Amino acid sequence: MEFATLAESFNKMESTRKRLELTQFLVELFEKTPHNVISKIVYLIQGKLRPDFEGIELGVAEKLAIRAISKSSGIPIKKIEEEYRKRGDLGHASSIILEQKTQTTFLVEDITVERVYDTLFKIAKLGGSRSQDMKMKYISSLLNDATPLESSFILKILLGTLRLGIAENTVMDALAIAFSGNKENRKKLQHAYNVSSDLGKVAEIIAMKGLEGIEKFEIVLFNPIRPMLADRVKSEEEAIEKMGNQFAAEYKLDGERVQLHIEGDKVELFSRSLERIENYYPDIIEKIPKNIQADNIILEAEAVAINENTGEFLPFQELMHRRRKYKIEKAVTEYPITVNFFDILYCNGKSCVELNYKERREKLEKHIKEDEFAKYIPMRIVKNQNEIEDFMENSINAGSEGLMLKMLDKPYQAGSRGSHWLKLKREYRNELGDSLDLVVIGGFFGKGRRTGNYGTLLLATYDEDEDTFPSICKVGTGFSDESLDQLYQILHPKVSIKKNTRIISEMEADVWFEPELVIEVVASEITLSPIHKAALNVIRNDIGLALRFPKFTGKIRVEKAAEDASTNEEVITLYKGQKKVAHDKNLM
Ligand code: ATP
Repeated sequence: MEFATLAESFNKMESTRKRLELTQFLVELFEKTPHNVISKIVYLIQGKLRPDFEGIELGVAEKLAIRAISKSSGIPIKKIEEEYRKRGDLGHASSIILEQKTQTTFLVEDITVERVYDTLFKIAKLGGSRSQDMKMKYISSLLNDATPLESSFILKILLGTLRLGIAENTVMDALAIAFSGNKENRKKLQHAYNVSSDLGKVAEIIAMKGLEGIEKFEIVLFNPIRPMLADRVKSEEEAIEKMGNQFAAEYKLDGERVQLHIEGDKVELFSRSLERIENYYPDIIEKIPKNIQADNIILEAEAVAINENTGEFLPFQELMHRRRKYKIEKAVTEYPITVNFFDILYCNGKSCVELNYKERREKLEKHIKEDEFAKYIPMRIVKNQNEIEDFMENSINAGSEGLMLKMLDKPYQAGSRGSHWLKLKREYRNELGDSLDLVVIGGFFGKGRRTGNYGTLLLATYDEDEDTFPSICKVGTGFSDESLDQLYQILHPKVSIKKNTRIISEMEADVWFEPELVIEVVASEITLSPIHKAALNVIRNDIGLALRFPKFTGKIRVEKAAEDASTNEEVITLYKGQKKVAHDKNLM
């Protein structure tokens, strides 16, 4: 397939943010795409080469790309840099420079999607001392044969700046329309995606085998399953109202969620956002296979830091000391953990997600042997408020956050947040009290003690429908000197020259960040706001929602991707749930 076709589609898609239009452009593109390249197209649309869990990153620096443009066009580096500064986007700048140039250049050969993809893949795989030269060679060879428009998109993919604003749901809508003629079939695609986390593979199957192939879609070992998530409840009464008169209560441990895929001695670990995390947990890799009594298995557990002397659970921050590149062995000894299993999703070649909670828990206990390191998460079947309160007390005393409440007769719903699982944290009981996980989108330089740091951060929710990050508050409290320094180290490399198009904010920050980092905040209340853009127009026209008195809790949620942050939907639910007070009139 000619890359020009894809570049033209990208160009059209960049001109709109409207979901219906984007869907239409995608349908047209998919209809023109040969089935054997559709997975590649789906990855490229999202600026990727493979599904996230494979961890393949292009990692090309701007400087290198500028050198490659200069090499293939003969235009001096200085001129390219100048244009880049003017445009704020290297892809766009290069197309303008090359446009002036093409009058004298002739194209050697048409480039195909396959060639671009394969070259990008080779670049991503390159490492070692000579890799920079090789990368440059590959890039300039592509640019030599590309038109200005094609070059601009090749560079955007290489630099990770291709942002078409196309959410996964939009891709699935378009696939359903293009290959089954009916958008309603999106639900079937959604299931396949939820159990494989691989949109390219889903696209390939619907294109090649139609809906029948999608219906037969099966879980594959070592392909992560998107996690099932829980709704919040504020009280025991509310839980009973939603769950009926008998359900399971488990400790809600404050650690890291780990999805374990195991066959013999081969173990792969995935985080909540489905990144590979074996590096941080060599102890899990070494010890857990001995506890497994099955040929192969997919399990979910919470890895929690513990006090080795008392066995008490320690907070999440302790565990985060393991998130380091070097001296991991030392961190493993200094921050010991236990692995606390709470679900089983696959066993001996068969899916378990269709089984209900009770059946899964029985299976879990059958196929895992407990010891000092591997545990089942404490669970009790509860029937009334007293029993929940008792178990909550035990849970808090053991050092955990609260309870997870789970319906006994429900299956595992991969990739969805719903009321079959509820979380009840102690802190939810006071005022809003609830914590939110928000994306850092902007920063304001600090004064006094905070000079040289970002003293205040601008935060956003995730808008699932639009795939954007609308602002919800500024936060300047709750930061220790240590956390300010740590945040600066993490955020500084994420500064972008231009505001990312997925950021929706009327407020002007001193610096804009690529929307990637998620931090936890608490607030006293959610109010209507004429300035902030979260849930804009939902409660009232031209009015969004904002947090009142937000405070950083000290938790940097490294295990969450920006798309895992609290959504507009969640904020709307919290807003509606809070007691109606006179503040509604009191716009922020
Ligand atoms: P939170 O911000 O409250 O940690 P989350 O957004 O990460 O939540 P939720 O579904 O809202 O995800 O809460 C469930 C999280 O709690 C899981 O991702 C997991 O890490 C953790 N957890 C601790 N104990 C359990 C348990 N018994 N069952 C399921 N998840 C548990």
